[in-house]
Amino acid sequence: MLQWSLQVFASNGLIDQICLVLPEDLSDVPLEAGNYRLATGGRERTDSVRNGLARLDAEDNDIVLIHDAARPGLDHDTISELITAIETADAAAPALPVLDALKRASGRQLETVERSGLYRIQTPQAFRYHQISAALNDTSLTFVDDLEAVEHAGAVVKLVSGKETLSKVTLPEDFARMETMLNPSLPSLRMGSGFDVHAFESGDGVTLCGIRIPHEQKLKGHSDADVGWHALTDAIFGALALGDLGDHFPPSDDRWKDTESGVFLQHAISLAAERGWSLSNCDITLICEAPKIKPHRDAMRQETARLTGLDIDAVSIKATTTEGLGFTGRKEGIAAQATAVLSRRTPDRS
Ligand code: MG
Repeated sequence: MLQWSLQVFASNGLIDQICLVLPEDLSDVPLEAGNYRLATGGRERTDSVRNGLARLDAEDNDIVLIHDAARPGLDHDTISELITAIETADAAAPALPVLDALKRASGRQLETVERSGLYRIQTPQAFRYHQISAALNDTSLTFVDDLEAVEHAGAVVKLVSGKETLSKVTLPEDFARMETMLNPSLPSLRMGSGFDVHAFESGDGVTLCGIRIPHEQKLKGHSDADVGWHALTDAIFGALALGDLGDHFPPSDDRWKDTESGVFLQHAISLAAERGWSLSNCDITLICEAPKIKPHRDAMRQETARLTGLDIDAVSIKATTTEGLGFTGRKEGIAAQATAVLSRRTPDRS
């Protein structure tokens, strides 16, 4: 991730020197060779900044930009705006106005905080080398960001327009959100298809798309043999190009014996979510002479919608026979095919 910011700094003609401050345990992180020097991070953020400043070969009046590598969406416009802004100020930073209502909680009471004049401050933050060095001189002090260090000294700070792309990657789901924001031309849809068959054996009912249906036979299988949801799960794996059900839940593994197929389906959906995709709609076709599907179809759609988090009108379940032909026609088993469409999860604009 830090390579993104490094590349922007390295390809910007206004930047002469780059110092990358890495925690000690990351000192062997594989990085593309480039024209930058390395410093070791400290215990607190402020210590890391001190170490980085000390590694620079800078004159008092040189401009330094201090940036969090956890904000990979750095762009050249922001660098130019900061450098222009600091011509007429002591420091500069990108900022976004706070748009949500703000409350301060004390006990069980809430108090509304006036939000006008409040900003979310991002990085890079720009300073004159001598000013930020002096502000950080007292090594007993630590600050939430570098602006705070100069604020104490009454510095004039100019804010330039911040960007959602400059937000910090903090939570696991932020990776996918940032990837989408930084690659707006990535395809927004993925499609996958799945197919499955289970044979009948003697029994008293089948489970199809999560619904138990009394029948004079059951479906043979390692799990609950829900052929409809197996096909749908495979369709989702297919859209993600992540192999098939057997790869993720090998029949040879006793952990999955008699497992409800909803577990498989939910696993596929969570793998999609981790990669920034959500199921948009699905279409399942059950192929059999018996049992009759139609009386159970709405219950199957509801159960599939509940498990996948889809609206019911995004869940299609259809049934067909094969006109007495083939193994389904001979009532030897049930086949199912499914199509799944995944869409990119919309970046959170807050
Ligand atoms: Mg199966």
